[in-house]
Amino acid sequence: MTGSIIGHFINGETVKDSTQTQDVYNPSTGEVSKQVSLASKATVEQAIAAAQKAFPEWRNTPPLKRARIMFRFKELLEQNADKITKLIGEEHGKIIHDARGELQRGIEVVEYACGAPELLKGEYTKNVGTNIDAWSDFQPLGVVAGITPFNFPAMVPLWMFPMAIVCGNTFVLKPSERDPSSTLFIAELLHEAGLPKGVMNVVNGGKEAVDTLLHDSRVQAISFVGSTPIAEYIYKTAAANGKRCQALGGAKNHAIIMPDADLDNVVSSLLGAAFGSSGERCMALSVAVTIGDEMADKLIQELTQAMKKLKLGAYSEMSNDFGPVITKQHKDKIIGHITSAEQQGAKIIVDGRYTQVSGYENGFYVGATLIDYVKPDMDSYKAEIFGPVLQVIRVKTMEEAMKLINDHEYGNGTCIYTRDGEAARYFCDNILVGMVGVNIPLPVPVAYHSFGGWKRSLFGDLHIYGPDGVRFYTRRKTVTQRWPSSGGREGVQFSMPTM
Ligand code: NAD
Repeated sequence: MTGSIIGHFINGETVKDSTQTQDVYNPSTGEVSKQVSLASKATVEQAIAAAQKAFPEWRNTPPLKRARIMFRFKELLEQNADKITKLIGEEHGKIIHDARGELQRGIEVVEYACGAPELLKGEYTKNVGTNIDAWSDFQPLGVVAGITPFNFPAMVPLWMFPMAIVCGNTFVLKPSERDPSSTLFIAELLHEAGLPKGVMNVVNGGKEAVDTLLHDSRVQAISFVGSTPIAEYIYKTAAANGKRCQALGGAKNHAIIMPDADLDNVVSSLLGAAFGSSGERCMALSVAVTIGDEMADKLIQELTQAMKKLKLGAYSEMSNDFGPVITKQHKDKIIGHITSAEQQGAKIIVDGRYTQVSGYENGFYVGATLIDYVKPDMDSYKAEIFGPVLQVIRVKTMEEAMKLINDHEYGNGTCIYTRDGEAARYFCDNILVGMVGVNIPLPVPVAYHSFGGWKRSLFGDLHIYGPDGVRFYTRRKTVTQRWPSSGGREGVQFSMPTM
């Protein structure tokens, strides 16, 4: 990165393509801090060509050597954590301690990728027939691309490229144009760790850059994380162009609060999971479904008290609980959802629409908001609000609560609060959601499991990182082998061989 225009990172070098730029904001102050270049088709093609050129040698680099680069990369990420988290905070607005958590979850994927020699070991069977051996090998795909959202500028790219690269692929990443600096810096660190030129490339940009990746026949696979309408477009276009695709979309994550739940635990969990990172997490808990009015009344009362103590403010103040949202437009959209809930008959218990942060009057702040008596047919319930807004739906039974969740178009995360093991077990087994918590508000799978939702929260088959990540970024080849001189020769055979 040089100057105030953020460029691209192609073939180990910073590249400028300033024909078109877009403002990057500091959401805490509301000021424009930089500009980002939006890559033209030609610039994206330059990145794809660099990745294509680097592939043959990288493919043949032993997994152990690839893994050693990841070990060095992990060290560099840790050494540069302060700089990375500051870059995240400046452009995203999340508080530094939250940015540190995001980076740590990303580093854990790098740690998993360090196991490449073990992960890529393949399968072997001696004597599948007399003197015939067979093995399956997991081979890289070639050039693969990643397209990522604004809300985790470090973690989500780290879900993708360490896995793709240790599996022997080369990579072109298109980060969010709204907060690209930390992502670009991380790619430079990977290069510093010893990655050969062209193996990892970053192009900043918008639709033109994405569409170039989707239509270029040299790109073998696309990993996408972002909103559902775009995820669906990416999946359909990638498939129509013969590419493998995993496209993770939006969410509406419900927590069921059973009458026997530990209320103190529920209140502290909901505060963090609904308002942490201003609710701009795809695993944020945005709906609390209470079973019985007694639990609902107690919960509303306790949450209202606890929310008075929440501290909203600039990313740089460590004592703040959460910061601004990403843009003025997004702030207006969130406020619109709160107003629509009110107009459609819900009750605003704590109203964050008019919250101001002293000294930061132009920042994109929305205060923590609590809405009661939400109904399934309200627009604010159907939509992903992606802001610091917790909606409460009151139902009478657990079955009713589960039906709400199962009927919702999204199926990313959910959880249940209860002391009843039998109820929790039934919930885990029957809920139509990909990531489930029991008394755990944000059940984000660790790096050696895999992350992904169901229904319209994921288009494609394989989840991201972990064992599914290895599957996604490799293709199986199975070899069956006989050496006739030692194993004896067979005559002509016209029937299907049965060993
Ligand atoms: P977004 O869909 O607006 O953007 C994601 C990426 O797609 C960006 O790189 C953007 O440049 C690109 N893009 C946007 N519009 C495009 C278009 N018309 N054509 C081609 N490319 C386009 O998402 P966002 O606002 O950056 O991120 C927030 C969303 O991401 C939320 O919906 C959130 O739930 C979701 N998300 C999901 C997960 C998950 O794992 N399921 C994780 C994080 C975020």
